[in-house]
Amino acid sequence: MMREAIPDWLLTAAKRYNLTSLENRDAYAGLMAIPMNSLSEILDWTFRSLPDEILVGLDVDTEKMDYSDRLARYIGSSDEPSLFAGQGMLVGRPHLVNRGDSYEVHHVPEEWVDGLFSEDRGPRGGRFTHWLHTHPNAPAVPSGADAEAAQFTEGVDLILGVWFSPEGAAPWFDDVEGVRRPLTELPDEEDRPVIGRAITGHRIHGVELIAFHKRGLAINVVLTDPDGMPIE
Ligand SMILES: [Zn+2]
Repeated sequence: MMREAIPDWLLTAAKRYNLTSLENRDAYAGLMAIPMNSLSEILDWTFRSLPDEILVGLDVDTEKMDYSDRLARYIGSSDEPSLFAGQGMLVGRPHLVNRGDSYEVHHVPEEWVDGLFSEDRGPRGGRFTHWLHTHPNAPAVPSGADAEAAQFTEGVDLILGVWFSPEGAAPWFDDVEGVRRPLTELPDEEDRPVIGRAITGHRIHGVELIAFHKRGLAINVVLTDPDGMPIE
């Protein structure tokens, strides 16, 4: 696979994000790690798909060694060992599963998924350890439908909030309760810094990322290099 360079803004964002992951480690019931090349690929799909949502499947990278010692500093006092599949492990390459509005994204016909992934994932290709979906112009906080969908997840569910303009069919909506995890400085109506421009022509103003477990517990995320070293 061709590996593209990680943009500077994303590396800077990852350092800040991990610092918060470290400082707030005691608030989390578990930990998972995402290498920057996987995150970068997910962001690329996210931006290319605007204003649509996307659904991404993630598995654990079983090819690699055990990262527990490198990530141990990020595990805090509320950690519940064996809470979910892939806990404390690094994810591998992401798979783009679906794209559409929030209804379409969460209702993937099994036979459709089976056909799509049968080549590289075998006949049960529809199953992934973790699931990530995007919230176009909305906070990365689980909705009621997200909490329901998570009941079938063996790992954790991740939400990537992406703020962009022009808004089109996805007007800005930030009236949501919940802890937010900015990857970049979060924009608001008055202050919309531009971190880049998508191939669709949309201006990107901000990105946020959370993970949660089906029991409603917040899960800590650490961003790493391809070898599982936290970006610090
Ligand atoms: Zn959602």
